[in-house]
Amino acid sequence: MKPEFIYFDLDNTLIDHTDAEAEAHQIIHSQFPELREVPVEDWLNTYKTINHALWLSYQKGAVDRYELQRTRFKASMDQLGIPSERSEEIGSEYMQAYRTCWKWIDGAEEALSNVAESYPVGFITNGFSETQQKKFEFLNLDRFSNLFIISEDVGVMKPHPKVFDVATDRSAVARDRIVYVGDSYSSDIIGGRNAGWKTAWYTAFVDQVESDQIADFHFDQFPELVRYLNGSGMDEK
Ligand SMILES: [Mg+2]
Repeated sequence: MKPEFIYFDLDNTLIDHTDAEAEAHQIIHSQFPELREVPVEDWLNTYKTINHALWLSYQKGAVDRYELQRTRFKASMDQLGIPSERSEEIGSEYMQAYRTCWKWIDGAEEALSNVAESYPVGFITNGFSETQQKKFEFLNLDRFSNLFIISEDVGVMKPHPKVFDVATDRSAVARDRIVYVGDSYSSDIIGGRNAGWKTAWYTAFVDQVESDQIADFHFDQFPELVRYLNGSGMDEK
């Protein structure tokens, strides 16, 4: 069945969040002597573990975004036994640095341009409205579409069905004609599948995909996605 609308995830699908996060931590680690009390790898690992746990609490509604942003630095510093008086300043310096480290995922811009010539496209992302909006601007995504759906605006995060219902309505096509391209199995592929969409999973671990991890298509290089969407792959499904 031919798709009629393609949605893309943002972080780690179009924009390299993981690298930007690591580079921004390198920057603050070199700026603040208290952080240099531990090696940068230890700092980053501790932060990522705590940040991930806080995001899960945020997803459940147990903490709000302000608490998340405030707590993730202080809790990481406390856990490492580093003086945390400047945790708020460090947190805001981090956000500044993070925004200077953004770049496209390899091949994603070319693929998106190509796909957008054949299909209407849109973007769905989990995250904070202000930051995600800035990413849209940085990537100049309005060249391709003005359909941006941000979880903070919807009030729930992917894979919550409401996000996909809002996106389905705004695409104005039938559910089974929508393809979602994303990197997160739990948020994008499960969420898209449960919504009755087709899914294209961008994963670096194509060879290790488990048999119960079912996406309609998976790929690790963007030209493969373009061939799939513009070729006959879809007709065979
Ligand atoms: Mg993602």
